[in-house]
Amino acid sequence: MPELPEVQTTVNGLNKKVLNGTFIDVWTDWKKIVKKPADFEKFKKEIKNKKIKKIWRRAKNIIFDLSGGYSLLVHQKMTGHLLVGYWVLDNGYWKPKQKGPLNDPYNRFLHLIFFFDNGKMMALSDARKFAKVELWKTKELLNSKEFKNIGPEPLDKNFTFEKYKKVFENKKGKIKQLIMNPEIIAGIGNIYASEALWQAKIHPEKSVAKLSKKELKSLYEAIKKVLLLAVKLGGESFSDYRKPDGTKGNFDSERKAYKREGQKCHRCGTKIKRIKVAQRSAFFCPHCQKI
Ligand SMILES: [Zn+2]
Repeated sequence: MPELPEVQTTVNGLNKKVLNGTFIDVWTDWKKIVKKPADFEKFKKEIKNKKIKKIWRRAKNIIFDLSGGYSLLVHQKMTGHLLVGYWVLDNGYWKPKQKGPLNDPYNRFLHLIFFFDNGKMMALSDARKFAKVELWKTKELLNSKEFKNIGPEPLDKNFTFEKYKKVFENKKGKIKQLIMNPEIIAGIGNIYASEALWQAKIHPEKSVAKLSKKELKSLYEAIKKVLLLAVKLGGESFSDYRKPDGTKGNFDSERKAYKREGQKCHRCGTKIKRIKVAQRSAFFCPHCQKI
């Protein structure tokens, strides 16, 4: 599932490719992907002739601020990713017009395509069809309950150690579960939670109340370090995620814990273990990350 680094990579790519573009049409074979307005024909009518003025990210949401005071929100969920290029209909299937990375098999599940005035196309490839697309009045989106409840952005310059400490005050529970809670910190999922905890040498099941100030600080630094590196490398692509040009991200070779069960810890050589924490897999080194 795309997490903060993958969503940021998508936003960075889209800013280069479709900023200032004007929508002229939309195609889908899965009308349910658009949740707001629920009537796809209405959505199609409303988005027509709207120009993209800004593309940004909040948690795992991609937001296109449009002319006329509207915002288009895309949440890629499990397997969705936005691609930009040119496709042609071939026997009822959209095929990339040219040879290249858009032909990667993970990029073939096109269920929604936006057409721009300059001929470019932006497509949502989503094997499992869990992604969501919503058209909001910008003001309503910013004031919505779900948006206001999102926790601080870990890469924000204002997210100081003091602010970070505050988000854990009076909180109970296992640290991995807490850092994956979007109301506590935005954008961290299973991959980067495991990676940051490995970097900080903290056991994923350790209770937040038992973390020393030193451990809290290590985790704060590890979260920033891991996310920044992953953004720089264009995210991970060992699952479905691809960048807007269809190519893979390069974080995979930097992975120290996530999905490395049975492989040697890069620090001490002990085999990485997998356990379940709140129904989700957690990967850690039993020697470096003692409870
Ligand atoms: Zn180790």
